[in-house]
Amino acid sequence: MGIATESQQENKAPSESTAAEKKRWSLNDFDIGKPLGRGKFGHVYVAREKKSSQIVALKVLFKEQLKQSQVEHQLRREVEIQSHLRHPNILRLYGYFYDQKRVYLILEYAAKGELYKQLQNCKYFSERRAATYVASLARALIYCHGKHVIHRDIKPENLLVGAQGELKIADFGWSVHTFNRRRTMCGTLDYLPPEMVESVEHDANVDIWSLGVLCYEFLYGVPPFEAKEHSDTYRRIIQVDLKFPPRPITSSAAKDLISRMLVKDSSQRLPLHKVLEHPWIIQNADPSGVYKC
Ligand code: ATP
Ligand code: MG
Repeated sequence: MGIATESQQENKAPSESTAAEKKRWSLNDFDIGKPLGRGKFGHVYVAREKKSSQIVALKVLFKEQLKQSQVEHQLRREVEIQSHLRHPNILRLYGYFYDQKRVYLILEYAAKGELYKQLQNCKYFSERRAATYVASLARALIYCHGKHVIHRDIKPENLLVGAQGELKIADFGWSVHTFNRRRTMCGTLDYLPPEMVESVEHDANVDIWSLGVLCYEFLYGVPPFEAKEHSDTYRRIIQVDLKFPPRPITSSAAKDLISRMLVKDSSQRLPLHKVLEHPWIIQNADPSGVYKC
């Protein structure tokens, strides 16, 4: 498989070659280091690409397990989508290769690991930290939606932290590439039903809801609609049963932003560019986009 050819300086692909060249990777190109963690379908190791000495994360998936769980299609989509995204807050997928038993994904290394663990350690984040993360995520999602990609699974478990403390959206397993609007502009628009014409913006609003849930969880340490039984969580979501606990004390501006994102009618949720202009974000988010502990 070819390696991505465009690059950004801060997260360049290992031994990235000129635009015309395509690199076929193999296990021989890497020195394998310590395990970083374990996923449902395999293991993740820190690795060094021999030629460039660049540190990457190598995710090793077992074909047999992928087949058994019928997720090969999902993995293909994840690779296809993630390898085409270039944003400082989206984990790069540089390429992949495989052998008889395994599939290997070459991923950007997120030195500070999972955000989920940091949230567990602190219980909840300060408003400055939460706002910095929410702004980073809003920018990353604006970028994705501009490319007609909807993540659909934004949650702390899918967020990693880079060496500088920058947030990285990982795990595009549930993402979708909505139909290409440009193509429809070139002639076939006349035949599209209204729900398809409208679907791009409409569906992308699911990510605004998730960002609202995440913002709440950053500030309170628990998701807003949590309940003992699944059926109760379901009911609370349907009713948008949103309550703000008295502790930790949180500004009314933060609650205002959350309330504007957690709106049942998806077309009425605060658009992501307006999230970035919200007073709470303006007052609290670090302009560098990075939260330093
Ligand atoms: P799944 O994605 O299969 O649902 P998962 O998210 O738990 O499961 P993986 O994505 O396979 O598992 O990753 C396992 C663990 O490895 C993560 O929880 C994380 O701690 C670590 N990890 C994964 N990717 C990276 C990376 N790019 N940089 C640093 N650590 C990583
Ligand atoms: Mg994962």
